[in-house]
Amino acid sequence: MRIDLHNHTTRCNHAEGTIDEYIDRAIELGVDIYGFAEHAPMDFDGHYRLGFEEMSDYSREILEAKERYKNQIQILIGYEMDYLKEYMDRRVLDAPVDYLIGSIHFLDKWGFDNPEFIGGWESRSIDDIWQEYFDAIEAMAKTGYFNIVGHFDLIKVFKYMPSKDIRLMSHKSLKAIKKSGMAIELNTAGLRKPIKEIYPSQSLLEVAYELNIPITFSSDAHAVEQVGFGYEEARELAIKVGYKKAVTFEQKEQILFTF
Ligand SMILES: [Zn+2]
Ligand SMILES: [Zn+2]
Repeated sequence: MRIDLHNHTTRCNHAEGTIDEYIDRAIELGVDIYGFAEHAPMDFDGHYRLGFEEMSDYSREILEAKERYKNQIQILIGYEMDYLKEYMDRRVLDAPVDYLIGSIHFLDKWGFDNPEFIGGWESRSIDDIWQEYFDAIEAMAKTGYFNIVGHFDLIKVFKYMPSKDIRLMSHKSLKAIKKSGMAIELNTAGLRKPIKEIYPSQSLLEVAYELNIPITFSSDAHAVEQVGFGYEEARELAIKVGYKKAVTFEQKEQILFTF
C-alpha cells in the first residue's frame, strides 16, 4: 500500500493546481490512499491558510472528489493545524475530518522556516531555538488534539544545526508523542529545502522506532509535480530503521497497513 497524507490545495494561497490534478497525479503514481491536509484556519497569519468561512467549501470539494474517485483511489480529508497555544479553535479541533496534523511553524510568532524571516536565526542562540522548538512539540503532543506530527524536525530546514545532541534535545517530545498516540510522518518536503533531508532524520526516526511510535508518509505537496516526491527514499529509510507497517486515519481512528 502506498499512502500520502499531507497535501495542500490553492485555498492556502501558496499552493498551485486543482484538486483533480493532484488526485490524477497520485493515481498515476500508484498511490492507494491520498489525503488533503490544508493549513487550517486561525486568527493568526491568515493569508497563508484558508478562512473559517471556507471550511465547508473545502470539505464539500474534497468529499465530492472522494466520491468521484472512489473506484480508483481512497481520498481522505484533514487539516494541518499550527500549534499556537492561544489560537486553538474548536471549529477546527471538532471538524469532522479523518485526521489533524499538528505542526510548529512559529516560535513566539517567529516564522522560523520562512526564508523572509531567516534573519531571526542570527539574533539568538541556535541551541536555544532548537530546544524551544522541541518544547513546543512536546506541549503540542500533550494537548491530545492531533493525530500526526507534521515534519517532526522542521527546525533543521535552513541547516542551522545545534551543538548539542539532537536526540537528547528531542527526547521529551518523543515520549510525549508516544504517550499521546500520535504518528510521525516521513515528510519528503525536506528534500526540497536547504537541509536536503527527509523529516525526521534517521537518528530521530530510530528513537521513534525504539519507542514504538507509528509512522505515516507525506509529500507535503504544494504543487502537482511534488505529489509523491521522494517516496522511495522515505520508504527505504523507514525499512532501514526497522519499520514494517505504517498507519493511516479514518475519522481519527488509526488503521495499520503494510507499506
Ligand atoms: Zn504550506
Ligand atoms: Zn507544514
